Amino acid sequence: LVELHHVDKHFGPLHVLRDINLTVERGEVVVVIGPSGGGKSTLCRAINRLETIDSGEIAIDGRPLPAEGRELARLRADVGMVFQSFNLFAHKTVLQNVTLGQIKVRGKDRKSAEERARGLLDRVGVGTQADKYPAQLSGGQQQRVAIARALAMDPKIMLFDEPTSALDPEMINEVLEVMRQLARDGMTMVVVTHEMGFARSAANRVVFMADGGIVEETTPDEFFTAPRTDRAKDFLSKIL
Ligand code: ATP
Ligand code: MG
Repeated sequence: LVELHHVDKHFGPLHVLRDINLTVERGEVVVVIGPSGGGKSTLCRAINRLETIDSGEIAIDGRPLPAEGRELARLRADVGMVFQSFNLFAHKTVLQNVTLGQIKVRGKDRKSAEERARGLLDRVGVGTQADKYPAQLSGGQQQRVAIARALAMDPKIMLFDEPTSALDPEMINEVLEVMRQLARDGMTMVVVTHEMGFARSAANRVVFMADGGIVEETTPDEFFTAPRTDRAKDFLSKIL
């Protein structure tokens, strides 16, 4: 569903993505982990072209990512993204947050957009919060609204960049549980996270990134019990 071939990117002298080759199959959950500054966020941002790349190719559903224009907007709408900071529209209600894109980008009428929004808000457990504003919600609730908003666009793939890093500990699980359910429902997902429990239980594959390159790519079982590289062993010894 997503294919990266020989993707390279520099920020000035800094080589942030080094010859990245990665394929994500339909229905697969790929967890990306690694030390800070390793290029994980840049990789996510490159996949929906919030970041340009210097060379290489990225294709979604068999179609190469175009540089700009209508075709890019269409492909981008197929890629849902959830960030560390929840990025909700502060001056819109929860319901409006989940309705807006459906109307503006997908061209739905308000009634069907609201129906879908309420269904999704129920699904992520915040159905009773629909008329509140983001600031009136807890961090965990806001992040679940952000997930509902992304899902409302009917994405083919969901990218999560450290979705629980900004949350208080007691709220982390409610967000991870929504993500686990999404994975069980067959959503294709790329998840950058430091939550090793989630990686172990939900990932089909673990990609370990450091210094802009993919250092290891394997099953969670193998990665956590028998990492092959010193870089990964060192990383795991620090976080486990
Ligand atoms: P973290 O775990 O801290 O989120 P990361 O693996 O997501 O790290 P990136 O955010 O992708 O890492 O950053 C990779 C490298 O690129 C870092 O050295 C970072 O400082 C640098 N970088 C990121 N964005 C920019 C930018 N817009 N301009 C210049 N350098 C950048
Ligand atoms: Mg990051």
